[in-house]
Amino acid sequence: MLCFSGNGMLHIKAGEFPIHQQKLQGFVVGFQGSNIYCLHVYAMTAVEVPQSYSMYQFLKEKQFEEAYKVACLGVTEADWSALALEALEGLNFEIAKNSFIRVRNLRYLELIHDILERKKRPEYIDDDVFLADIYAYQGKFAKAADLYEKTGNPTKALQMYSDLRMFDKAKQYMTEGDVQSARILMQKQAEWSKDSKDPAVMVDILMHAGEEEQAIDLMGKSGMHQRLIEKARNTDKADLAMLKRIAQWLGKLGQVVLAAEIYNKIGDEAGLVDLYVSNRRWQDAFKLAESNPGLHESIYLPYANMLAENDQFEEAQEAFRKAGHAEKAIEVLEILTHNAVMESRFGDAGYYFWQLSIAALGNMADYKDGSEVPDEMMKQMQDFQRRADLYYAYDSIQRYIAEPFTSHQPESLFNIARYLLHAIKDSVPMGVSKVAILYSLAKQSRNLGAFKLARHAYETLQTLRVPTAFREQIDLGAISIRSKPYSDAEDVLPLCYRCSHQAPLLNLTEPYRCTSCKQGFVYSFHSFEVLPLVEFEVENGIENEEAVGLIEDESRVGKAAGGWKEESSGGADVMNLHDNTEGQDPFTSQFMRFQAGEAFSPVVADRDMLKSMPASEVFVQQWPAPLNFRYYRNVLPEIAVSHCSHCNNFFHSDDYELLVLQKGACPFCRHKVAIGGDLEARAPFNPLDAT
Ligand SMILES: [Zn+2]
Ligand SMILES: [Zn+2]
Repeated sequence: MLCFSGNGMLHIKAGEFPIHQQKLQGFVVGFQGSNIYCLHVYAMTAVEVPQSYSMYQFLKEKQFEEAYKVACLGVTEADWSALALEALEGLNFEIAKNSFIRVRNLRYLELIHDILERKKRPEYIDDDVFLADIYAYQGKFAKAADLYEKTGNPTKALQMYSDLRMFDKAKQYMTEGDVQSARILMQKQAEWSKDSKDPAVMVDILMHAGEEEQAIDLMGKSGMHQRLIEKARNTDKADLAMLKRIAQWLGKLGQVVLAAEIYNKIGDEAGLVDLYVSNRRWQDAFKLAESNPGLHESIYLPYANMLAENDQFEEAQEAFRKAGHAEKAIEVLEILTHNAVMESRFGDAGYYFWQLSIAALGNMADYKDGSEVPDEMMKQMQDFQRRADLYYAYDSIQRYIAEPFTSHQPESLFNIARYLLHAIKDSVPMGVSKVAILYSLAKQSRNLGAFKLARHAYETLQTLRVPTAFREQIDLGAISIRSKPYSDAEDVLPLCYRCSHQAPLLNLTEPYRCTSCKQGFVYSFHSFEVLPLVEFEVENGIENEEAVGLIEDESRVGKAAGGWKEESSGGADVMNLHDNTEGQDPFTSQFMRFQAGEAFSPVVADRDMLKSMPASEVFVQQWPAPLNFRYYRNVLPEIAVSHCSHCNNFFHSDDYELLVLQKGACPFCRHKVAIGGDLEARAPFNPLDAT
């Protein structure tokens, strides 16, 4: 390389190439690397002259070695890059590598490294393959693709284009039935399809490659139900798997009718159920369940779960039962009960506890044959029943306290409060406020003239922690009640219908019953007044069915009064003279057979007595086995009593009929009663259809 100056111009000549000129003042005295030492008048200056021009001249001629040497004298970064790329395209990897090192281009260095590695391998044929890679790296895709194809590597072109998501171009490099290529495309497509706006191309590619399942999946994912339907029409009926796949996708796309058509065509009931369930077509699903009980579980279980998730616990419970998952129904019931208590919906809480007791009773059915029911089971059932009664009754107190008006008579509230005080004397269930009960009792006792009881209630209240809102009223009441006599009015004392003894209003020291004959009280389950019912037992050896038959046999009714009577007793026929001259039947004459202060001895009825009872006066609680039937007689038929055969509770007929008219159902167990129907229908009690 030569450098000289003259006429204010600097001339640089490299090799055989023409001279490069540039303006310069002074004389060149030295030349080293890219520095020219120049003397101008008295000053020596070093001028840096880039060697780019010379380098490009060598590059043009593809003299990479020379160009590299010139570049080493000093060129810009851009020049190095140009040299590197040219050298690479010229397949001079050594120069290219060194040049790329100068500009620290790791991407290309990697490529070169890769190419050099591949060159060492035995399958290496010619450099054109690398050139294609190089073009691809540089973004010259058309050139690269051409080269790939020329060198017999169309797959690489396809891969390149699919990497670039240029699927149309990629398709051009796909050979018919080439599964391998289709796979590659599919792979790319999987990543791409999410944000792709036109997956139709991809579906074509897949169908083209014979990947039908993937094509169907893609149609489904892209919501192309029209194409799915077309595909279904063109698919052979025997290809069940394919049709099922299409139906599944149609189902997911909400095309229930079309999907159902396919399922029906291939006779896939389980699929149909799935379709209806996942699309919440419950009515269609229920129709299926009707014709095929085997499907109950798969339909009602998800239905129940759905209901439970939507807080429709009652409906869910029923559905769980239909699905054959009684245990889940109980779980739901427990949630319901808990919620009802937490939300102070005590009427509901009572109802749910009653249902829990029925479920517990259902569990005892295994012991029908007379084997001993485990104590725990029995206790739990009884506890549920107790809570059911308690919450049901407490609902009225809660309403009385919380709401300005009450539908209950003062007598009812008075009775309910007393009933509850007796019921909670051992343990107060969650949510029940003893203060509320005592407060209601105090007020109603006072109204009804039970001053002694009112005073007791106020005194007890003063020992309890009372909400401040009540504090003043209670203190006031406690003082003013002292102006009243310390006694209870006679007419509010409960009467024992067996021995006509009047019981005290409150007796928390022993079970609340008649203090004289120890007969238990039977309450009307609305007003909680004592009903004129006396419970009796049937003589040993009389089975329930027989007893019920004898009661219903009306042939002897009214004939029992007095006179001679043929009876069989102890295996011998005897003639007895009954001295029932006052028209008392043998049943009531049994009433007085007790010794005051002794243990309770129940009234026992023999066959004859059963036969002579008017069926309308007798009520039988037909509890399912292993529980016993319980018998009651109305000893004051003028007071009409109604009995709900579902929950076995008794009511004053007036109350019951009114409540049934209002609610269309039993107020306690909510069992639907047809208005105008037989209110005292004695249908055998079956806990499992009691819902
Ligand atoms: Zn009594
Ligand atoms: Zn009922």
